[in-house]
Amino acid sequence: MMNNILLEIKDLEIDYGIVKAVKGVSMVVPKGSIVALLGANGAGKTSTIRSISGLTKVKSGKIIYNGVEIQNLPSYEIVKKGIMQSPEGRMILNGLTVEENLMVGAYSIKSVKEDGIKKKRKFLLQNNLEEVYSYFPILKERRKQQASTLSGGEQQMLAIGRALMGSPEFLLLDEPSLGLAPLIIKDIFNIIKKIKEDGRTILIVEQNAKQTLKIADYVYLLEVGKVKSHGKAKDILNDESLISTYLGSNN
Ligand code: ATP
Repeated sequence: MMNNILLEIKDLEIDYGIVKAVKGVSMVVPKGSIVALLGANGAGKTSTIRSISGLTKVKSGKIIYNGVEIQNLPSYEIVKKGIMQSPEGRMILNGLTVEENLMVGAYSIKSVKEDGIKKKRKFLLQNNLEEVYSYFPILKERRKQQASTLSGGEQQMLAIGRALMGSPEFLLLDEPSLGLAPLIIKDIFNIIKKIKEDGRTILIVEQNAKQTLKIADYVYLLEVGKVKSHGKAKDILNDESLISTYLGSNN
């Protein structure tokens, strides 16, 4: 087993009453990588990613993060371990400004002592804000604006920025391309790649397979709650028959 594993899922099962959404999924996410979870509507992608952040109950199986089991821990405990999620549908608070929305993502940030020096919360928040604005300069320009006035692409940037405000080691992204124009998707995906290159680990759930495969390192393909196939993104990207059979015609 690789020793650079950040997250390991073993035999995950999730039920909603009689609906078996996830039926024995196992996967690993190496540190510093982008892993993509792909598959058609209803394949179990969202259920899987939400179970990692504690938003969906696990029926059986294990979710091991940095060597510690985290399945069914409350979300706030999972956030404290360094996992933040940008949810499907973005869940922006429309009545708040852009900057207020970002601050919502920073609720877990506390003053810390590092090498004997106390770093105050205010200082850490400022650092995090600057980091988010460096990825998404448009959010800085619009920081005082109500979030409801943003375009879809800007709202998606805000959802990712809000998750980054918690300084996550592990960033979970649920369908960042949903409802966006191809050019904006390309921009956002390039920034996701940059976030990885700056040292974070990312798990991304997507229906837009081809774009995702271009930035991902490793891919798991789900079909009706099971892993149908997995491998290096560049190998799957070249497998036209796999793509057309299971991943639709998105490009
Ligand atoms: P999508 O891309 O549409 O979100 P998905 O691959 O993320 O699809 P899930 O959302 O995890 O799939 O759904 C997996 C299965 O579980 C589907 O059959 C779905 O209808 C069902 N399901 C999801 N959430 C619930 C729920 N809260 N109650 C009942 N069934 C649910």
